[in-house]
Formats: sequence, C-alpha cells, structure tokens
Amino acid sequence: MTRCSTRLARIFFVLLVIFPQFCGAWDLRHEGWNELPGPRDEHVILGWTPVGGKPWLALRAWTQDGQPRLLALDPETLQTRIVDASVPPAVSWSQAEEKASSSSLYFRLRDAALKTQTQEVNAGVGSWKPRRRGAWLSMDLCPSRKPLDRWVFTSLTEGRKAPLPVFLDVSGLWMSVHAKDLAWLVREQKEGRLAITWVGHGELHPFDPDSPWGQTFDLTPGLDFHREVLGPERRLIALGQTPSVWYRFPGLISSPHLVKKLLDWGLLPLASGAWLNKNQKVHPGDVVLVHANGNEERGLRLLVKLNNEKKSLPAGEWSWLTPADFSPVP
Ligand SMILES: [Zn+2]
Repeated sequence: MTRCSTRLARIFFVLLVIFPQFCGAWDLRHEGWNELPGPRDEHVILGWTPVGGKPWLALRAWTQDGQPRLLALDPETLQTRIVDASVPPAVSWSQAEEKASSSSLYFRLRDAALKTQTQEVNAGVGSWKPRRRGAWLSMDLCPSRKPLDRWVFTSLTEGRKAPLPVFLDVSGLWMSVHAKDLAWLVREQKEGRLAITWVGHGELHPFDPDSPWGQTFDLTPGLDFHREVLGPERRLIALGQTPSVWYRFPGLISSPHLVKKLLDWGLLPLASGAWLNKNQKVHPGDVVLVHANGNEERGLRLLVKLNNEKKSLPAGEWSWLTPADFSPVP
C-alpha cells in the first residue's frame, strides 16, 4: 500500500468506523482486573491433555468451585473445549509442534500468521483455502453505547435450515454494558439460529484518534496486553461459553511483538479478507468483516445484500463457512 492510500484508508477508517465508537464509548467506566467476572486465576499454560482419547493442547488453566479446569484445543480441528483436568506437564512450542501431526491445521495456521507479523495492518489469517465454496463471516463488537444490530442477525438467519456460523469478536467493554444483547446472542445460539465462535477483541479496546497509528488500539502506550487478551476470555467463561483459539486485533492494528505474544499464548490472529464497508470484494475463502455494534449500518446493508445474492445460488455453490471448513491442505 502506498503512503497516500494508507493515509486515505486511515481517514476512512476513523471517520466511518472508529470515531462513532469512540464517541459512544468515551465515558464508559470499567471494572478493575479483580472485579471482572470469570475466574481470577485464569492463566496461560502449554501442555498436552487427553480429550476423548486424543491429545489436545491445553492453553489455559483456572479453578472453578475448587475444581481445576483447562481450556483445551484440538490441533486438527481447532475445536476448543473446557475440561475438568489438572495442569499437564509443560512443553515448549517446538516440542508441541514436534509431537503434532505434520498436517495439523493449527500449526499450519500459526505458521501462516507468523509470516504476516511485520504487517502493521491486518496481520493474521484473513483468508484460507476452504473445504467448500464460501466465506467466513466475522462481526466485531467494539465498545459502543448503541445497541446490538439484532436486525442483521434476524435477517441473515431467516429461512435458514442450519444455524448461521459467525465469528463474534467481543470486546470486554461491549460485554460489560450490553448484558441483554449478549444474553440474546447466547439464546439465539441455544435455540439453533446461530453457531457462534467467540473471539476476543480486546478488553478495553482503547482508541485515540489524535494518536499516531502505531500508538493506539492494542499499541496504546502502557496498555496491559495480557489483560486485553484474557479479559474477554474470563467474561466468556463466566457466561458459560467457550473461548475459541482466535483473537481479533482492534482496528486490525498490531506489531510483530504483539503477534508473537498472541501466538505464544496459543491464539491465532483473525484478520480480514473483505471489509464490506470499505467496498472490498468477497472471494471464496475470505474472512468477511462487518461491525454489528450500531456503528456500521452501511456495512450491514451490504452484508444482507450479499447474503441474498448468494442465497439464490444453487445448493452447494456458496455457503457461510464454519470453523470446520478450514482445509488442512494448503
Ligand atoms: Zn473493534
């Protein structure tokens, strides 16, 4: 991207997406680390733990009602599960990779994300070869005082036979002030209309439009990145939901250092292949990005239009993809 187009992209981004969020979020107060819901002792680990007779990677440990719990990941399918088990013996990342199958999808995605770590914008996995034709849908819930755009979920799920698969990228601040909307989403999932993959999107998700690009979002000086990543996980656990292996950087802005940290904590950065409000075209295997926090109506209208176009295609020609649709073959 040239310097000029980078600057234009930034202005566009600030005016259309971030500035309204900032206006809506500036006066939100936030709990201290100890007051956050969820397990206070949640911490990062790395080891192998058996789940259903197969070795899974244990990424987090905490106690709940006196019982040890782990967040475990199947490296073949990316499925995560909360299991009752004690902390397994620690391994290093190179030991973990050695033991994993050479076709392990998780380690392929890690390698791909690592290759993008020097990108200032959109580092991570924004498109991937899918098992069938379609795209992944992701919706950011950045801090906002406006209500959730429930209408877009209702529109997309109407008439569907299967639940709509969606990556919901939740910031801690959004969760803390939108309890009813959050409960509505959980209910939509329970009743089979949504199949949600919960993605952390920062705890405070700070943004200062007057700061240089490299000093805001997760690059805000003095920001506790550990808390940004673990805060939404703790909140999801408190809700009885299971965090996924993905994290979406606020503003899609990161640094090589933060990408490396995220990977060290076992997570994968979810980038974007097609941000609809930026008029980016959707190709098969893209991760589509919209905001459903009340601040991007145009992007949501484009999404509904795209959905209706694709719905009219013959069966099997195009689908909203699920997390099981990442192909393990490059
Ligand atoms: Zn955001």
